[in-house]
Amino acid sequence: MRVRAPTHNPMGFNTMERYDIVVVGAGHSGCEAAMAAARMGLRAAIVTLNADLIAQMSCNPAVGGIAKGHLVREIDALGGVMGLVADAVGIQFRLLNTSRGPAVWSPRAQCDKRQYRVEMRRRLEEEPNLVIKQAEAIDLLLEDRAGSDRPVCRGVQLLDGRKIEAAAVIITTGTFLNGLVHIGETTYPAGRSGEPASIPLGERLRMLGFRCSRLKTGTPPRLDGRTIDWNRCEPQPGDAEPTPFSFRTGRIEREQIDCHITHTSEETKRLLADNIKRSPLYSGQIEGVGPRYCPSIEDKIVKFADKASHQLFLEPEGLDTNEVYVNGLSTSMPIDVQAAMVASIPGLERAEMIRPGYAIEYDSVDATELDHTLETKRIQGLYLAGQINGTTGYEEAACQGLMAGINAALAIQDKPPVVLSRTDGYIGILVDDLVTKGTDEPYRMFTSRAEFRLHLRIDNADQRLTPIGHQVGSVDDRQWAQYERSNNDRKRAAAFIAKHRPAPSDDEAQQLFARIGGVPADRATLDGYLRRPEVSIGDIEPVIRKYTGLSLSRPEWKAVETQVKYSGYLEQQKKHVERLKKAEARSIPATFRYAGLPGLSREMVEKMERVRPRTLAQASRIPGVTPAAISILNMHLEAPRPVRLDA
Ligand code: FAD
Repeated sequence: MRVRAPTHNPMGFNTMERYDIVVVGAGHSGCEAAMAAARMGLRAAIVTLNADLIAQMSCNPAVGGIAKGHLVREIDALGGVMGLVADAVGIQFRLLNTSRGPAVWSPRAQCDKRQYRVEMRRRLEEEPNLVIKQAEAIDLLLEDRAGSDRPVCRGVQLLDGRKIEAAAVIITTGTFLNGLVHIGETTYPAGRSGEPASIPLGERLRMLGFRCSRLKTGTPPRLDGRTIDWNRCEPQPGDAEPTPFSFRTGRIEREQIDCHITHTSEETKRLLADNIKRSPLYSGQIEGVGPRYCPSIEDKIVKFADKASHQLFLEPEGLDTNEVYVNGLSTSMPIDVQAAMVASIPGLERAEMIRPGYAIEYDSVDATELDHTLETKRIQGLYLAGQINGTTGYEEAACQGLMAGINAALAIQDKPPVVLSRTDGYIGILVDDLVTKGTDEPYRMFTSRAEFRLHLRIDNADQRLTPIGHQVGSVDDRQWAQYERSNNDRKRAAAFIAKHRPAPSDDEAQQLFARIGGVPADRATLDGYLRRPEVSIGDIEPVIRKYTGLSLSRPEWKAVETQVKYSGYLEQQKKHVERLKKAEARSIPATFRYAGLPGLSREMVEKMERVRPRTLAQASRIPGVTPAAISILNMHLEAPRPVRLDA
């Protein structure tokens, strides 16, 4: 289907508008992209199909979680807004993984879904350099420019006849490109429930030669909370002291609620097994690949057939709605099966379904089409970010939007790009994984993807990234001042801990001495005590406060504690990080000719040509590239003369 914009313009109104950057899509990636560009002083337009659904949480109303929480902290450290919005509208905060080491602690917040949209839109509207436009982008405006070896994108064509000219275009269309919803045997084109699919733009990208694939994701039914028997479910409270996402949030002010836990029953399992052939996943109706780590309930009963039941979390969608999200019950079964399945679950026997679950198949673009700035290699000035690049999740989308927005803004200002390395943060890992390896299933972040987990903690995300954000302009002066204050305080506290030896008579040290079972014979420094497993920062805080006058927030104290307790491991990791940085620094020229390199097989040449790695380290991460190929490449980069391997 080819949709044409109207060509007839009898009123003669101006159909051409000009901005520095146009962002297509106002989801989690689009909002970060447009706001980053606007903060950096550029005039940005954000185009979206429905302005009332900006930053809609299509699936569960929660931000963060394991590794995703790290991404949100990093987005925040670079000046992004996701953490601030989640802090403002979070209704249940939990710091996950606290029984394990601080490298894997990760914040998560259940959010008020409607308020999330309201708050994000408020922030977009507060941005003086930003305008919102409700419209459908159906085409790209391209031109051939002298001196450029590829077409240049100079704007978008909208369905309503307008054209928006811009020096850079960022496409962030999520699951909308050629989206197809499945509920049992019923299928219909949609971007997500209740919204149209984006078909012309999807077709245009395919026509332009972008390699695309079909992916799939799904969502559970939403229930009316008034019809749930809460007494049959186990309450799951949030943390007594909520941990904010943003380094800029002082305290979480909003009222907090409990979630609840229930489980599927034997009857649920039987129902699903009896009807499995009616599932579009198992009937062959769905061809797209789904997120392995977020399987549907029908997938779970097939793949984990020996498991008697599965845990479900009942998560309220907000403070002023009865709608409840059933986390763990994602399904695309026919509605009659969904209704019976819900009724088979303890506590949900009489639950009314407000919206059924569904699956959606959509086009994603092979991310090896992009370079590390998220600009496409095929078209200059065109960037792709978010779920369109094969990721799943709000956080993965948001961090790409932020990086695309920053890099598009830098390119327009003729400034060098920002490419975060794998040692700078999870954002660097995500982008590098995507553009180097692509993905054949929806990509989700995990802490196990990081080579140096202890180095990439939530507490030091600002130390790793805020200076970079400030340098490029995505971090404003206010955030920078706050960071400098906090960073100095943390450093002062650590320096004091390293040299202060509390006296046996010191009143403030009595809690510490009690903790270690009495006053020690020799006076050790505070860091010596703090490294002992039984001592925590709380035990020495009174001493630090007394002598330095420092008053740190709880997360800041914890950051100091981690720095001291793990200093040995951190030093070790620092050395490895330096080594990796050196490998990353061995760059490969953009015009490097792989073909004809002695000893490099055709297969290796093809793989390298496809990705065109920027560095030797990136080349080594291309799937299937052998260590032998890397050493040939290395030799050639060191001595760019013909290398005779058989000599
Ligand atoms: P979106 O948030 O989808 O935003 C896309 C934006 O593009 C919208 O504003 C839309 O209006 C706009 N748009 C599209 N086409 C056009 C056009 N032609 N012109 C103008 N505007 C356009 N994530 C998980 O982590 N776990 C899950 O279990 C999960 N389940 C999901 C289930 C469903 C059914 C869906 C739809 C999504 C699910 N997600 C899940 C994914 C999560 O919603 C996305 O990862 C995230 O929203 C992607 O953000 P985005 O910014 O890339 O796109």
